[in-house]
Amino acid sequence: LRRNPGEAEFHQAVREVFDTLGPVVRAHPQYTEGAVLERLCEPERQIIFRVPWVDDAGRVQINRGFRVEYSSALGPYKGGLRFHPSVYLGIVKFLGFEQIIKNALSGMPIGGGKGGADFDPRGRSDGEVMRFCQSFMTELYRHIGEHTDVPAGDIGVGAREIGYLFGQYKRITNRYESGVLTGKGLTWGGSLVRTEATGYGTVLFAEQMLATRGAAFDGLRVAVSGAGNVATYAIQKAQSLGARVVTFSDSSGYVVDEAGIDLELLRQVKEVERGRAADYVARRPGARLVEGGSVWDVPVDVALPCATQNELTVDDARTLLTNGVRAVAEGANMPTTPDAVQLLQEGGVLFGPGKAANAGGVATSALEMQQNASRDSWTFPHTEERLAEIMVAIHDRCAATAEEFGAPGNYVLGANIAGFRRVADAMLALGVI
Ligand code: NDP
Repeated sequence: LRRNPGEAEFHQAVREVFDTLGPVVRAHPQYTEGAVLERLCEPERQIIFRVPWVDDAGRVQINRGFRVEYSSALGPYKGGLRFHPSVYLGIVKFLGFEQIIKNALSGMPIGGGKGGADFDPRGRSDGEVMRFCQSFMTELYRHIGEHTDVPAGDIGVGAREIGYLFGQYKRITNRYESGVLTGKGLTWGGSLVRTEATGYGTVLFAEQMLATRGAAFDGLRVAVSGAGNVATYAIQKAQSLGARVVTFSDSSGYVVDEAGIDLELLRQVKEVERGRAADYVARRPGARLVEGGSVWDVPVDVALPCATQNELTVDDARTLLTNGVRAVAEGANMPTTPDAVQLLQEGGVLFGPGKAANAGGVATSALEMQQNASRDSWTFPHTEERLAEIMVAIHDRCAATAEEFGAPGNYVLGANIAGFRRVADAMLALGVI
């Protein structure tokens, strides 16, 4: 705390993990002797840099760029880039820390890292976004590489941004190094299913949790927050399993559509027009936009928070419980506050933490790296099958670990311990580095 003052989200993420590690640390004194916990509090490398660029009016703009190369015990640093005005070191470190445990839990050979900038792409022209990305990469390129550090997308960084970043990397280095970024377009090294992977994976994880109680998505009411990459494909997968998804949201408010979200309209508004929730409601009879308030006020069986950190509070958890929610799976990173997690678990709700439930995105990024390394590209059904196998394996790993440590059904404890053990064992094997 003293070494990293003011990094509230980072403290929250570390505390949430460390709070569950007692049983495994007590059982294995080598983790204490090797100072594994202390080492995990300190990223291997943190890079902060100026990003100067020129807007459409000819004015010079300055943003701050970050890359936290957190842990390379299991493979090259791997984790997304976030472009959002709220980005500062504490956010990047929290995301990087969670990424270590998540990537370890996924079973893939990837370390943990995260980056981004306090740049807001909303309302910016394509030209402005391109110039920003080019300037960002003009510094970042010297730190990344397919064997070193492999960034991807996150909030505010989608296919358009990855394209501009990759173009600038290729131009500066004169190398067509496909494996340096994931989330690429399909014609230039991307993988089928990567776009859908996080949202699909979240629903597949929730499906596995529901199955432990003999339930399935068919016929259930579902609330999704967010309207970006993760939310859109969580909605698609839940609908394909027979659920009725009645909400989505963005920073202007939330939409209730009792007939079920019209996915084609949502994609047209968000992916093509880069519009707002109000643009969906204007073209969808029966749908309404609620500004202010909480999307979790809508009665549902399953809640999928897919927008941002700390968006589901203890008051929301209380409302969800009153309305009879059965499962919550985190598509976003750390969207549920710690007291809300506790209340939901005490209330008997199946709770899938983001480290497990949204790991399908990074796992499919690792599949993209595999395809790049072998200069191959797999079909959609093959890649989706791999994703489904990975999600089932993650679910089972969490469940088995929770069982092993005397907390059956506690996916938070299961995910944290299973991920921690894998990375901690590798750290010890590699010596004091
Ligand atoms: P996008 O930028 O595609 O979408 C984010 C959505 O959340 C937008 O609808 C945005 O609304 C909303 N949102 C973001 N910040 C806020 C905020 N402070 N308040 C209200 N609404 C907000 O991002 P992704 O879908 O890629 O990411 C969503 C979450 O999933 C993040 O937590 C991310 O870390 C996590 N994640 C993403 C992965 C991926 O593969 N993309 C992988 C694993 C986790 P608006 O446009 O109005 O800001």
